[in-house]
Amino acid sequence: MPELPEVETIANGVQARIHGQTIRSVWTSNKPQTFKSPPDEIIEALTGSRIERVHRVGKTIVVDLSRRKKPAQFLVHLGMTGRLLVSAPDTPVPPHTHAILALSGGQELRFVDARRFGRLSVVAPDTRYEGPGAEPLTVALEEFIGLFRNRKTPIKAALLNQSLLHGVGNIYADEALFHAGIRPSRHAGRLTRADLTRLREALIKVLTEAIQLGGSSVSDYVDADGVAGFFQLHHHVYSRTGQPCRVCATPIKRIVIGGRSTHYCSTCQK
Ligand SMILES: [Zn+2]
Repeated sequence: MPELPEVETIANGVQARIHGQTIRSVWTSNKPQTFKSPPDEIIEALTGSRIERVHRVGKTIVVDLSRRKKPAQFLVHLGMTGRLLVSAPDTPVPPHTHAILALSGGQELRFVDARRFGRLSVVAPDTRYEGPGAEPLTVALEEFIGLFRNRKTPIKAALLNQSLLHGVGNIYADEALFHAGIRPSRHAGRLTRADLTRLREALIKVLTEAIQLGGSSVSDYVDADGVAGFFQLHHHVYSRTGQPCRVCATPIKRIVIGGRSTHYCSTCQK
């Protein structure tokens, strides 16, 4: 599943290619799972609108639109296998394509999703999508510390709770806890101020590095150019069960927390 850095990479790639263009026409597959807003509503909001900006909020790609000075937003949630591709119209349409936006620049923006956990929707004019939780790259220290106060769940589960912080998934939760030296099983509410200060810094560091490297390619996503990212080369613990820790050579352990695979070093993380 794409995480925050992958979604940001895709949003930035799409923004660079299509911002400022007008949507000439829209085709939808009308498969019910994919459309969180009725397809007719999406077609109505998008057709004739200008794409002002494509950006990321949490794990959602947000397309800011304007038409007759009325702002609207088109939301793309990639789910497990969703891809947003900028393609020439003569490029064969891949199987499982659910939406095609024909653009004034001559290209098409296509949403392709084999497993159909992705979602397309539009936000009513004059409302702004802000997502369910705090933004991990910009959350202030005091707000970050407050998120975990009195939480009885393991810190790993709290990091994955999208209503607290949005956009952090399994890979970057494990990596951030490694860099902060914190065991994933520790109760979130018992972490000290110093622990949470290190954790916030570690989270910002791993997410920022992953964005700079173009996101991970562990799941079957490619960015708008079809080029996979390569952050997995830099993983310290994620998916490295039994391999030596890159810092102390202790074999990396795997446990399950909240139903999710969790990887850590029993020497480096306390
Ligand atoms: Zn270690």
